[in-house]
Amino acid sequence: MAKTLYIHIPFCRQKCFYCDFCSIPYDPALAGRYADILCRQFKSLNGSFSSIYVGGGTPTVLGLKLLRKIFGGLRLFSRGCREFSVEANPESLTADKLALFRDNGVNRISIGVQSFDDAKLKKLGRCHDSAQARAAVRLARQSGFKNISIDLIFGAPGECLREWKKDLAQACSLPVTHVSAYALSYERGTRLWETFKKTAVDPPEDDMAAAMYEYTMQYLPRKGFRQYEISNFAIKGFACRHNLSYWQGDEYVGIGAAAVSYVNGRRITNDDDVSRFIKKAAADKSVAVGRDSLPVLSRAKEAAAVKIRTREGIDFGWFRRRFGVDFMLLENEAVDGLLGKKLIAYIRRNGKIKGVRLTRKGFLFGDEASSALV
Ligand code: SF4
Repeated sequence: MAKTLYIHIPFCRQKCFYCDFCSIPYDPALAGRYADILCRQFKSLNGSFSSIYVGGGTPTVLGLKLLRKIFGGLRLFSRGCREFSVEANPESLTADKLALFRDNGVNRISIGVQSFDDAKLKKLGRCHDSAQARAAVRLARQSGFKNISIDLIFGAPGECLREWKKDLAQACSLPVTHVSAYALSYERGTRLWETFKKTAVDPPEDDMAAAMYEYTMQYLPRKGFRQYEISNFAIKGFACRHNLSYWQGDEYVGIGAAAVSYVNGRRITNDDDVSRFIKKAAADKSVAVGRDSLPVLSRAKEAAAVKIRTREGIDFGWFRRRFGVDFMLLENEAVDGLLGKKLIAYIRRNGKIKGVRLTRKGFLFGDEASSALV
């Protein structure tokens, strides 16, 4: 049975320059119809979930009335749920919304801060400033949330190491328990990419981005945030259970536009066109645009590609119990290549090889290691 539930809210105040997620400008009428569809779909869910994650888009762009409807609909599933997260953006997070989340079982807030530098926030096309970002974190804490995560981005156009160090120092001065630090990626089709093509923006050199990441890996653990995955750092006891479940290859249910479910070995992808998604769902038609039955070996390889990104790496015993296959037989060639490049190393216990994990160099080239295994 799927352990985790993801709900996608595809609305944002405006599109950030780097964004290639499924999000459209907030339209109250469309959002109202979308909320009705979500609530109908919640009724078809069975069982309980150990974690629920409401993400986007920007869930907090919705008004209180719609949030009340959606979180009221989820209330049934929040009982017994160990982690219930909501993504929020600083400009739309209010005390009323936080109280509503708390009263409906939410126990983790993930805030899209990205930076505490106003000039950098402008370059990224964010619609909040650094004062709002700090205020949002403090407000979440004052509202009783003990588990607060923030997202940060490094490698913005023209950014230097000194500026990134300031962002990390500010993050650590706030009451946060979890930091996700991502390198800015210049994705085709985004406004950032278009600007980059016209050479008006200047992405940091690879060496600079690597220096920022290396500094992050040194600095955050010094401040008590253990790195438990390539981009994720948490105070002890605050690692994101929802993500850990994905990385372990657990099954999950996704509700909403562009959401993906992985149940009984089948992956189902929902339509990412929000209007079309609403139309189909309202007419009781399937919202799925992709259905793949994954053979066990493909599932095992996909799980290896994500699990290698965690600090603990891949334990051969776990892999065999989980997928019924021997990791070294399945990935022999890839492992040889990655060992040769010193991107992974064997985990040894009592003199025996028990698994593989990323080396320090491997953390810098995590995507290469993942692609080799999939
Ligand atoms: S807030 Fe997030 S989802 Fe919305 S446009 Fe910005 S990056 Fe995309």
